[in-house]
Amino acid sequence: MTVRKEILKDIKRVVIKIGSSVISNRDKGRSQLECGLSKDWIRHYARKIKVIRDKGYEVVLVSSGAIMAGRERLEFGRANLTVPEKQACASIGQSFLMHTYEKAFEKKNLMVAQILLSHDDLGNRKRYLNAKHTIEALLEKGVVPIINENDSVTVEEIKIGDNDSLSATVACLVDAQLLIILSDVNGLYDRDPSLKSKSGVEKAQLVSLVSKVNEDIERIAGKSNNRLTVGGMVTKILAAKKTMSFGIPTLVVNGLDEKVIESIFAGKEVGTLFWAGKDKIRDRKHWIAHTLKSAGTLTVDEGARKALIERGKSLLPVGVIKVKGNFEFGNALTLLDESGKEIGRGLVNYNSRDLGRIKGLKTSAARKMMEDSFYEEVIHRDDLVIF
Ligand code: GLU
Repeated sequence: MTVRKEILKDIKRVVIKIGSSVISNRDKGRSQLECGLSKDWIRHYARKIKVIRDKGYEVVLVSSGAIMAGRERLEFGRANLTVPEKQACASIGQSFLMHTYEKAFEKKNLMVAQILLSHDDLGNRKRYLNAKHTIEALLEKGVVPIINENDSVTVEEIKIGDNDSLSATVACLVDAQLLIILSDVNGLYDRDPSLKSKSGVEKAQLVSLVSKVNEDIERIAGKSNNRLTVGGMVTKILAAKKTMSFGIPTLVVNGLDEKVIESIFAGKEVGTLFWAGKDKIRDRKHWIAHTLKSAGTLTVDEGARKALIERGKSLLPVGVIKVKGNFEFGNALTLLDESGKEIGRGLVNYNSRDLGRIKGLKTSAARKMMEDSFYEEVIHRDDLVIF
């Protein structure tokens, strides 16, 4: 079985990043700085995402295009905009972008939701988990979350900066099994494909698989010369480096190829696949188990111990017998069984005060007590390592 087909076997959740150049109306003969959103391309991707959804995959979108859409609407055709001008473009463009997605997805009976993130939301563990829970709740309801950076108010210091990087963070945040970056290039070439092949210079070849991002790979990625988008191949490679260390494969493909989504899901060799193998999946768990300091302990009852160990379930309030330590939401905790034996480690969704109040309660009673601050799982299985 090819690597591509093998990866497809394990996919349930996909993050798709759509670059500005993929949904621009540049094909209508406009210059890069004059173009705006292409409703046709947005409709095209709404149709494709509907097909993937119907196959049973969950989809989270990361879409650029806000600044481009705002530029067009404000008729800012010049190259150098001031920061407030760019932010004005983003705020006008973002609502237009969402409106366009909403209408396109509505035709396919799919609801969309806007989530705007900044580095602050993702760097702080509590807010990181909050964003994760919101996206999970949306996916549970069959909604397609559409994420962008909160460009209109985010200041330079806390900017993520490019949506390639944002999409990698989102893929890790939601524990996706695949990140697809739709760009206007075919993938990574082994040399600059725009250089004319002179005698002695070989034609650039598309690299089909990258299993390690080393200096050579970073060097051949070169720099972006596209003024419409923030990222070039470099940001895509850095994004892939991040997802690879979390065991998530990343595909960089040409989103202007109308059949690219079908090709990907048929396991065809399109674009460049960044994939370091399954072993890397353990990295995140390794981080939880070994890198984080434990901020307290939870003793769980026999029923919960069995559910965690034998059935791979999450830990619910009802299974917690004892709470020890002074901890906050998002801290790492050690799990003990009734005999005091350490059985695992995980990231907790409650602080010690709240967990003390709901320990041992059935889900319905815990929900009543916590109201808006209720989380179904005390520790979600994705945030849990069993020893
Ligand atoms: N967030 C920017 C926008 O929506 C795009 C950033 C990028 O292209 O990487 O315009």
